[in-house]
Amino acid sequence: MSVTETIYEHWINGASVAGESDRLGDVFDPAQGRAARRVRLASPGDVDAAVAAAAAAARTWSQTSVTARSRIMFDFRELLVRHEDELAEVISAEHGKTLEDARGEVVRGREVVEFACGIPQLLKGDFNDQVSGGIDSHSFRQPLGVVVGITPFNFPIMVPLWMHPVALACGNTFVLKPSERVPGASDLVARLYQRAGLPDGVLNVVHGDKVAVDALLEHPAVDAVSFVGSTPIARYVHEAASRTGKRVQALGGAKNHAVVMPDADLDFAADHIVAAGYGSAGQRCMAISAVVAVGPSADTLVDRIRSRTVELTVGPGSDPGVDMGPVVTRAARDRIAGYVAQGEDAGASVVVDGRDLVVAGYEDGFFVGPTLLDHTTTDMSVYTDEIFGPVLIVLRVPTLDAAIELVNANPYGNGTAVFTSSGEVARTFQRRVTVGMIGINVPVPVPMAFHSFGGWKDSLFGDHHMHGPEGVRFYTRAKVVTTRWPHISEESLAQLTFPTAQ
Ligand code: NAD
Repeated sequence: MSVTETIYEHWINGASVAGESDRLGDVFDPAQGRAARRVRLASPGDVDAAVAAAAAAARTWSQTSVTARSRIMFDFRELLVRHEDELAEVISAEHGKTLEDARGEVVRGREVVEFACGIPQLLKGDFNDQVSGGIDSHSFRQPLGVVVGITPFNFPIMVPLWMHPVALACGNTFVLKPSERVPGASDLVARLYQRAGLPDGVLNVVHGDKVAVDALLEHPAVDAVSFVGSTPIARYVHEAASRTGKRVQALGGAKNHAVVMPDADLDFAADHIVAAGYGSAGQRCMAISAVVAVGPSADTLVDRIRSRTVELTVGPGSDPGVDMGPVVTRAARDRIAGYVAQGEDAGASVVVDGRDLVVAGYEDGFFVGPTLLDHTTTDMSVYTDEIFGPVLIVLRVPTLDAAIELVNANPYGNGTAVFTSSGEVARTFQRRVTVGMIGINVPVPVPMAFHSFGGWKDSLFGDHHMHGPEGVRFYTRAKVVTTRWPHISEESLAQLTFPTAQ
């Protein structure tokens, strides 16, 4: 079968299923700029089949011992290690990121599986002896039932891995709706789970677009929804799933600021800002997109960022030695170039311009070179909007207070970083910024799997962050049991007044 004939089908009840829909979407090779594979786009009927499989499997999976669930996670983890190269290759081919970057996301996702292996410990309840005379109480948590994950294109394996290992280890069954632009990794992951011993129907994958998402949000047998994507869709998913009574966490977009204080090591800051701004062609929700230069060192900082930016090698993600691959679609490339033009028209200075980059041998690829804009202001669209491409903008402010005010006035609150050599500055910054994930001389402060990931404000709708302890709480609900084993001859002490501890 030639590559263009490859069609990713749904994975329902442990098997590849074409379903009833004849709609297909193109999956691009962004470096070549052409469709390389296709993906089936589910109908509401296909979604119903996947949810039905998950609901049926939930009856036995929720009763499977926590030890058995943990063992499957251990085996799944080993398979992720063995298939790391294969996973990285499919991610790089469909997303465009470099192979090394793709390997990094496999590892960060695998860490959530490692966290989920400890589920017996994570699900331990609490017990109180003798809360009243002859009475004990204990609490424990149980799974919700059928959980849905809807994920974005930019982390084809890591973001789904933020969700399903924790949800499954907690005893839920799962329906994943990955981004239709990068379906390959989820296809392989479903097969690896099966090889790890996960029973059929416990993890299902439906590919699709808005039709599939809406069918999942409205489905009465779906108990909870985890979403990661852009802010408008996150808001929509949060509202729609809440309306139908589901538990929902919806993570949205970002505009992440790196504040650089005059006391920072400017070479160190420039190195890390360039890596965090242009890694994965800026298509990370934790990418640095706005540099806030505080005080008199702005010119020096911009010059150091510029000198590093022009050294970057742009090319297909599969080539060794490439720092940055293409962006995901032609539309993304055009949107990014449009923002740079708007910034220039609004008075920003274009220090490095990546708009006209052509990569030899890949003339049709979706490439944008790393771009640096200086003297931007908060009213420009390059600042107000999430560009989601390899564009760094620089704003200049006089003081730390002004920098914090700027960060806090932004509607997004995903990640931020401060570069400084002062402990006092770092402490003030971390205590005052209204952002969920903060780096102190760390530009991409993605929490480890045993902490939880989540932003504030328009970067997260819902109450719980993802994975870590908050993930366990999101995917379970609590029971508290009050127990008395009266002695056969004991007086009953029943009374009509409200019971209080004796
Ligand atoms: P997106 O919002 O376009 O798509 C995300 C998911 O929603 C996909 O599965 C897609 O099929 C579905 N979808 C798209 N349009 C829809 C609609 N109208 N109705 C219902 N469903 C719809 O996001 P994307 O372009 O795939 O990913 C990039 C975005 O995700 C960026 O904004 C980025 O910041 C964000 N992101 C956020 C985080 C985070 O943790 N906060 C992590 C990764 C990515």
